[in-house]
Amino acid sequence: MLRAFAIKGLALAAGLGMSQTLPPGWALIAATALGVLVIGFFTYTIAHPRSQFFVPVVSRLASDAPVVALTFDDGPDAAVTAEILDVLGAHGARATFFVLGERAARHPELIRRMHREGHTVGTHTQRHRLRFHFGSPRYIQREIEDAVAVVAGILPTPPALFRPPQGLRTPCFASGWRRIRGLTCVTWSVRGLDSRATTADAIVARVAHRLAPGAIVALHDGTGLGGGCDRRPTLAALTTILAACRTRGLRCVALGELAGVAR
Ligand SMILES: [Zn+2]
Repeated sequence: MLRAFAIKGLALAAGLGMSQTLPPGWALIAATALGVLVIGFFTYTIAHPRSQFFVPVVSRLASDAPVVALTFDDGPDAAVTAEILDVLGAHGARATFFVLGERAARHPELIRRMHREGHTVGTHTQRHRLRFHFGSPRYIQREIEDAVAVVAGILPTPPALFRPPQGLRTPCFASGWRRIRGLTCVTWSVRGLDSRATTADAIVARVAHRLAPGAIVALHDGTGLGGGCDRRPTLAALTTILAACRTRGLRCVALGELAGVAR
């Protein structure tokens, strides 16, 4: 939060300085340029998956080995998650599921199946509310810890990974995150953008050409969030993505298998 205030203060001071020293026309142009820069800066630091500015994140695997990490957000879903697990199992692939606490509580058998089949279970807040990004530190802490408690009550070990909704790391989130111990924040390097209405071909087109050693791929198995309810495109795309991985000699691993990612 202090960083955000410092940046705003600097921007204000620069604006005041310009208004005192530049001719009126130039002052307006310079102020507009400064505003664009500030907006761009905050957009990058909050939304870019590689930005470490507000919160340290893992966006790629540190390993040079030919491995990729497929990840699924927003589940578990009674119908879709089981089908995704079937497809992963048929290809001998492992993945990571960033589950919602309230959905995990409804489907503990799916959480146990993920664990039993070698996948990693991380969390993705308790309820996935929009206000999470603007909540108080206490609210953010509770949303994270409630989800961790649900999964910890189902599995023998508590989850060690967390992905914030939409991958955003706002200054509010950073304030709450500082109260959390024992979790690693994970974003991605490749995004399927399958939480919105889309097609399997479009998902494959976004993902396949960026499959490379170390990639972390963000997909979705949960329905009903972000406007997307139909996960058939994701399921169809997953089969093609797994085939592309095999063709390129890339092994799909669960993040928990890798030292330095999950503690
Ligand atoms: Zn999500």
